[in-house]
Amino acid sequence: MESTNRRKIIVWMLWASIALPGLIWASVNLPEKLLSWELLAFFVLAVIVAFFPLSINGTMMYCVQGVTVAVFLKYGLSTEILLTQIVSLVLLVRNQSSQALSVRLPFNSLMFFVTSVISGLFYFAVGGETGSTNLLHIVFFGLVYQIVNVLINHLFLYFDDLIMRQKVSFFSVDTIWDFTISFTIFPFAIMLYLTNAVIGLPALLLLGIPFLVIAILLRMYSSSEIINADLQKTAHIGHQLAEQLSQYEVLDQFVYHVAELFKADYTYIIDYRKGELLMLRMFENGEIVEKDIIPVQYDRGISGKVIEGGKPLFFVKKNDWEHLESWYMPDDVESIMASPIARNNRIEGVLLIASRRKYAYTSHQMQIMDLLSTYFAVSLEKAAYFEKAVAQSERCGLTKLYNYRYLNETLEKSMAKLNRGELKSLSLIMMDIDHFKKINDTYGHQSGNDILVKLADILRGTTEGKGTIARYGGEEFVVLLPNYSKDEAFALAESIRGTIEQHLFLIENDLDTNRSAIGVHITLSVGVSSAPDDSDESMSLIRNADRALYIGAKQKGRNKVAAYVK
Ligand code: GH3
Ligand code: MG
Ligand code: MG
Repeated sequence: MESTNRRKIIVWMLWASIALPGLIWASVNLPEKLLSWELLAFFVLAVIVAFFPLSINGTMMYCVQGVTVAVFLKYGLSTEILLTQIVSLVLLVRNQSSQALSVRLPFNSLMFFVTSVISGLFYFAVGGETGSTNLLHIVFFGLVYQIVNVLINHLFLYFDDLIMRQKVSFFSVDTIWDFTISFTIFPFAIMLYLTNAVIGLPALLLLGIPFLVIAILLRMYSSSEIINADLQKTAHIGHQLAEQLSQYEVLDQFVYHVAELFKADYTYIIDYRKGELLMLRMFENGEIVEKDIIPVQYDRGISGKVIEGGKPLFFVKKNDWEHLESWYMPDDVESIMASPIARNNRIEGVLLIASRRKYAYTSHQMQIMDLLSTYFAVSLEKAAYFEKAVAQSERCGLTKLYNYRYLNETLEKSMAKLNRGELKSLSLIMMDIDHFKKINDTYGHQSGNDILVKLADILRGTTEGKGTIARYGGEEFVVLLPNYSKDEAFALAESIRGTIEQHLFLIENDLDTNRSAIGVHITLSVGVSSAPDDSDESMSLIRNADRALYIGAKQKGRNKVAAYVK
């Protein structure tokens, strides 16, 4: 904030000490008979041309020099100074930027003034004259004028960038375009000047109309080029999103790419769920940020309007949306685009992007954003399906514990870690329900299943955060415990066994027509083995625990924990 204020003060001081006296001088020294229809026509033409800038690589290029140079050649420096000041006001309105008007006004005025004066003085210094009709003279000195003009203008902007942002390059693609356009326009300025010298006022119509038409056509062409380029980027983003297999990644990639494509200062993905708006992802000033944003009722704020209307919303400045916003929005936001994220004709959320600049977005960008929202919704859905499929392939359908396959993979990975020295020890507990067949035979398979589900819940609770628990087979369960010694694993196994022995499983008797509720007790036989004590190989760790279970626990009377002994 402070540096912005300092800049404002410096720019106004420079303007007051350089441009202001210069402008007073120019006004006093205007040529006589200034108020002519002809000069008015020149001014009008300049203002219209200034209204149709070309946008090349996102930078505005102005063709107004086609007119100002002609005015300089005909009327001299002071008239040109006043004309370019008027043009600078037009550009101020035309080219909205993030900087406050109170800085841009003196800055633009100063820049145009300095450029006019230096290039004008060069023209006269090398021998140029006002109102000459000598073609060689005009072309040669005019060219000097034009070169100095373009250079000074560029230097002015370059030094300003240097002071403001430190890291800028003197020569860029934009610079080349700027120079190219300036020198392409130059012959037009000469033609306008000479034709006017011969036929007077009609010259402006004769040349002005085709010039304007070309400027407008070029503008249309360049905006269609921009749309094409944006569409290509959109397709590329679509492909990248489609490649993501996790919802988390889809969200992250999406906010990142959207912010980049639209040069957005703020990008938000808002989830619409259970009648509420929930901030799902926030990307501010180039990075993902985590903030606690309290959810609001679905119809609140700009996002609420998008949900209710089902259509994108588009604002060019703060005044237009301020009265609507009643949720989270940074103070310095001006332009906003918000688009519904819909899936199967249902609105699931809102994509909102915002810029500190006024008039930052165009309507074609709105359509592109709509398209991106669709890509996003589809990719998110696909990632959700994929995550679900992965989860299902890793879990047992009945107990929702990890399955045999997942256990094996985790065991392999953990054993590799142990062998690399990343784990001190790795223990394994294997449990088998005693006489479970009898439970099935007495109360039915469904009741047996109910017991398995309840047992799984208890096991999940007792081993939470300690290791990986899996359903290994029918009524066999395994707990894999990284950094658990054999003794520690044995103690945990013993506590599990004790808990289950005490627990009364309430089931409905599946074989009874009344489905009477009864309490059933079960017991576990448990085997424990450990690496590196007993083995350093995955399959042996399981085999050893299994052997301990059958020889040490089942054969010794069940409801026991046994550790593997070599
Ligand atoms: P023990 O282990 O004490 O030797 O006796 P057991 O009766 O438990 O014998 P075993 O381990 O050999 O048999 C496992 C029984 O568990 C066989 C089957 O009836 C039952 N079982 C296995 N998977 C399921 C299942 O998914 N649901 C139900 N309800 N029963 C199962
Ligand atoms: Mg059994
Ligand atoms: Mg068994």
